[in-house]
Amino acid sequence: MRTGQQYIDSLRKRDIKVYLKGELLESSTVVDHPFIRGHVASAAMTYDLAHDPRYEDLMTVKSHIDGRTINRFTHIHQSTEDLLKKVKMLRMISQKTGTCYQRCVGFDALNALYTVTFEMDAKLGTDYHKRLQAYLEYVQDTDIMVAGAMTDPKGDRSLRPGQQADPDLFVHVVKRDDKGIVIRGAKAHMTGMVNSHEMLIMPTMAMAPEDKDYAVSCALPVDAPGVIHIFGRQTNDDRKCEGDMDQGNARYGIVGGECLTVLEDVFVPWDKVFMCGEIDYAGLLVERFACYHRQNYGGCKGGVSDVVIGAAAVMADMSGYGKAAHIKEKLNEMIHMAESLYACSVACSAEGKKTASGAYFVDPLLANVGKHNVTKLIYDIDRLAQDIGGGLTATMPSEADLRSPVIGKYVEKYLKGVVSVPTEHRMRIGRLIENMTGGTALVESMHGAGSPQAQKVFYSKLSNLEHKKRLALDIAGVPVAETPKKPA
Ligand code: SF4
Ligand code: FE
Repeated sequence: MRTGQQYIDSLRKRDIKVYLKGELLESSTVVDHPFIRGHVASAAMTYDLAHDPRYEDLMTVKSHIDGRTINRFTHIHQSTEDLLKKVKMLRMISQKTGTCYQRCVGFDALNALYTVTFEMDAKLGTDYHKRLQAYLEYVQDTDIMVAGAMTDPKGDRSLRPGQQADPDLFVHVVKRDDKGIVIRGAKAHMTGMVNSHEMLIMPTMAMAPEDKDYAVSCALPVDAPGVIHIFGRQTNDDRKCEGDMDQGNARYGIVGGECLTVLEDVFVPWDKVFMCGEIDYAGLLVERFACYHRQNYGGCKGGVSDVVIGAAAVMADMSGYGKAAHIKEKLNEMIHMAESLYACSVACSAEGKKTASGAYFVDPLLANVGKHNVTKLIYDIDRLAQDIGGGLTATMPSEADLRSPVIGKYVEKYLKGVVSVPTEHRMRIGRLIENMTGGTALVESMHGAGSPQAQKVFYSKLSNLEHKKRLALDIAGVPVAETPKKPA
């Protein structure tokens, strides 16, 4: 297993093309860019914590392939206990980083592909599972970070991939020969991509027969010829080029450092191709991946919320209203919501089932409910943190003002709360609340792992509404045959 430092050093050896604010970055120093280094440090925690004896049980596991001890982020879940440990691991890491550490996406892509390629081979006689297993062994051997790449730009949402005016708005195969395939298109909102070693491409939705070229899954290095990454902006990101105080979470940043990854005729050899034209399995792969990733959100956002709740409570103490009844009430409300998020992740893991491949899969309905709760409750948790934090979290002068030999004394004097607390400490907590409850973080809770509507689709599919109707009819004493029929 790599350490965090070994992980970072290995990233320097890539020949990756990352554009940021219009400039191409020098590939060996991408990890040092002020916009990127926090995300790298956060991902490095997934490596370092695997060497910490306190977290050995959560962070490491025996590989089901050869019994070696591996980092859990490269593991295929072998039991509901594995699923539960994943959620506990995520909450634990989030409590330390206060933000996304990105490595779960590739982890979930591996597990989803493991189950789907097995079922695909059994039905179609293909050999994708064997290829995926060889790739998995490589990932476990090298402990690389793999970015999961699902979301296509999608263009006009009313049109299918093949109907778009521009055929590249969904990643597709443009050429096949005896050596491999060539793909073209882009993947959007790519979490952790610029600080990964490889990416796992997956289709973004179920495909129709005419979309055959779009049903493609494969693995490739992030620095393969033809791959270009365009780094996304975040709220207040220019503060990262200044001192650390105004950033709030200077060590780990916010969210995952997302980018737009362009694939301009990229060659992928056949041994790294895990789906090519099997349209009936594109939707299944999307579902499996989405559910594995939605499982996570009560873990990772539960841990992030622990930090937000702590920050709000500390701000109240530092300002002298920590003992007020309404503050306690608000903190309790926040705790209730954070634990509710976590409960769904635990529940969908405990209710997981073994798939034909032997890997365990979460309960899909509960996983979707959990992620859907995140799209609402994080807003409420953050709203209360801003309520408790006060207007200061949005109007505070800068670190440079505090340090100024001329006006620093005024900032020091007038931003003081409780006398025993240094003004700088109060300002730091205020910035943390601002950072963690601000624009980019909230949008990630809404759309990360899929937008709310994507979760609702699962409810009608999985909740068996007809069964619920029969329950009601039975208890009310109404014969089933007398329920209203739809007009012909
Ligand atoms: Fe992992 Fe959460 Fe980041 Fe997704 S948002 S990659 S689950 S830490
Ligand atoms: Fe996310």
